[in-house]
Amino acid sequence: MNKLFDLTGKKAIITGGNGGIGRAIAAALASAGADIIVAARNRAKTNETVSELQTAFGVQAAGVEFDVLQEFSINQMVLKSLKILGSLDILVNNSGIAEGKRPETVSSAEWDRVIDTNLRGAFLCSKAVYPILKKQRAGKIINIGSMTSIFGSGFLAAYGSSKGGIVQLSKSLAVAWAPDNIQVNAILPGWFKTELGSSARAEDPTHESRIIAATPMGRWGETHELGGAAIFLAGQASNFVTGIAIPVDGGYSSCLNGMDGPFKPAV
Ligand code: NDP
Repeated sequence: MNKLFDLTGKKAIITGGNGGIGRAIAAALASAGADIIVAARNRAKTNETVSELQTAFGVQAAGVEFDVLQEFSINQMVLKSLKILGSLDILVNNSGIAEGKRPETVSSAEWDRVIDTNLRGAFLCSKAVYPILKKQRAGKIINIGSMTSIFGSGFLAAYGSSKGGIVQLSKSLAVAWAPDNIQVNAILPGWFKTELGSSARAEDPTHESRIIAATPMGRWGETHELGGAAIFLAGQASNFVTGIAIPVDGGYSSCLNGMDGPFKPAV
């Protein structure tokens, strides 16, 4: 494998690594040779993912149970991961939830839960790994944003605020930690059929076709298609790349229609 994209011997934590997108990113990093910690709450899903990674890629993989809403749990998760892996090179902040309702109906508790899971959690996980990465003078942090990092949505005020924040958090950490040779970047996924959007798809029969119409490539993404950007941002190929956000979206963010309109090719 080209050295630029070779992660052999690298050690990675993926928060929410047992879900749709996290699992695909875990598989991509493992396919490039990285050893993986899948950090999440649901033990059954985590165990299934871990055995899949071990069988498919022959890397070291383990699950660590944690709740990204609890700072103590985050710090314990990082300590346990370090103990299992022996060192740490890569953190993927992927754990996430969405509210999927109009802003006037969102309670303060719901608001806090979304912001705290998606944004505060990414900050605290990054803060927890920082001393380890700083000490070895190398590290990669990959934050998972969204199309709502760019566009507004009438049903995702808290989610969009958290994902907009993810881009600014990535830039801020990138600047702060550049002297330590730690690169911090974001991936902005387009639309992928995972558990996260399942209620939107179930409740709105036009949802799926509207996404297809608004995506220049004319289809939903497959979660494995996020793997290339993840390997790039985790490996040597991106050693002088920091503070950026890469859309992986079939062109969704490049057309004028944003979250709500159908894509109409120019004539
Ligand atoms: P899933 O619902 O499949 O995955 C969400 C993951 O987050 C699960 O692994 C879940 O694990 C974890 N998680 C949720 N709450 C917590 C918590 N309190 N503590 C620890 N982990 C938690 O959805 P996706 O795979 O789609 O979402 C992954 C990321 O991708 C999210 O950040 C999402 O915003 C983002 N994204 C998704 C898009 C899509 O189209 N699907 C588009 C753009 C961005 P567990 O429940 O076991 O804790």
